[in-house]
Amino acid sequence: MSGEVPATVLGIYDEVLRRNPGETEFHQAVREVLESLAVVLDRHSEYTEMKTVERICEPERQIIFRVPWQDDRGDVQINRGFRVEFNSALGPYKGGLRFHPSVNLGIVKFLGFEQIFKNALTGMPIGGGKGGSDFDPKGRSDSEVMRFCQSFMTELYRHLGEYTDVPAGDIGVGSREIGYLFGQYKRITNRYESGVLTGKGLGWGGALVRTEATGYGAVFFAEAMMAARGEDFAGKRAVVSGSGNVAVYAIEKVHQLGGTAVACSDSSGYVVDDKGIDLELLKQVKEVERGRVADYAERRDGATFVPGGSIWDVPCDVAIPSATQNELDGDAATALARNGCRYVVEGANMPATPSAVKVLREAGVGFAPGKAANAGGVATSALEMQQNASRDRWTFEHTEDRLAEIMRDIHTRCHETAEEYGSPGDLVLGANVSGFMQVAEAVHAHGLI
Ligand code: GLU
Repeated sequence: MSGEVPATVLGIYDEVLRRNPGETEFHQAVREVLESLAVVLDRHSEYTEMKTVERICEPERQIIFRVPWQDDRGDVQINRGFRVEFNSALGPYKGGLRFHPSVNLGIVKFLGFEQIFKNALTGMPIGGGKGGSDFDPKGRSDSEVMRFCQSFMTELYRHLGEYTDVPAGDIGVGSREIGYLFGQYKRITNRYESGVLTGKGLGWGGALVRTEATGYGAVFFAEAMMAARGEDFAGKRAVVSGSGNVAVYAIEKVHQLGGTAVACSDSSGYVVDDKGIDLELLKQVKEVERGRVADYAERRDGATFVPGGSIWDVPCDVAIPSATQNELDGDAATALARNGCRYVVEGANMPATPSAVKVLREAGVGFAPGKAANAGGVATSALEMQQNASRDRWTFEHTEDRLAEIMRDIHTRCHETAEEYGSPGDLVLGANVSGFMQVAEAVHAHGLI
């Protein structure tokens, strides 16, 4: 952990531990936010009196359900589905669905909790939620994935609605899954309610740039951090972990801005390609063939595949962890700083451990927390909802301009809040305090509910 929990919020933290035993990722996410909030509670006694922080730490609703389905061999499979409707002070619950064997209630709560503040930071009218299942899509056929999605939605639909709860994708859930989920929702409800899911296909209510948005947004955020230090991407080396949706489009934007992304990874290892990752080949391997980065290295001259090991040993100016939570630990942060890395920008949700954040802070490496840096995905989901509500369709350029503007605004807000609360340059504090203030004001205004 990054230090002592401040006395002002210790009671709140202890209560969260007591009520949510064993949910370590949730504890970690709550603790990180609480550490930033002591300075806010010193200035706002009304939030202490009304237990505003305690109420925000308790989800408004948690849904756990059985998802039975039949595999291609005819065997019955049973998975568990989750949706945590965490906070609706600013708008309908909004947040992705994750399909991965590691998914459990604690993981969904950590992600849902982060989502509250992330969504607030976008400045769009969306509350926070998250969901998913321990279903593992890896190695499953298309029709197995379809049957699973249909069964999942057969229970979840009753909790959704464009004014109630609007899921999207996350790890293991892309446009294919959103398609099957949307089809089942439409069939059960007999409503073409476009705004009930985001990340839809472009031909049936999806928004241009939504696919690229999280990766592009993280790089726009990095660009804003660099601009604050009088720098830019030109000539910079970037290491991007992961090779999913976030990583692929982070790499694309790094290249467009004049940098070179030299490494990416998956669960089997990482690939180093000093000439710069060939995006066409990476997309072909990962998105079309659903293959591994090792296949990329085999087909690309000069690229090397390193099985296992740590991608953070690859020297770079900018690191964009875009795989999963807690993938970058204290040792990795030490290696990054030692090799001259100047910026770490979280493309995934909470990829840096608390000790990594501490190491980076002490080494003077600029650090952007995921709830600020990867907010471009959900921000563009809100733009998709906006287009659905007005039955409109924006161009790629217009949508990308909006995204870039939103990311710059988030950076400005985090930067200024950190200064206002006496911690210049601390974007963790800036993001937590500014996201919290927005939510807390609305929670307070709505009375004791
Ligand atoms: N799963 C993404 C996130 O972590 C996107 C959520 C959304 O678009 O609703 O923010």
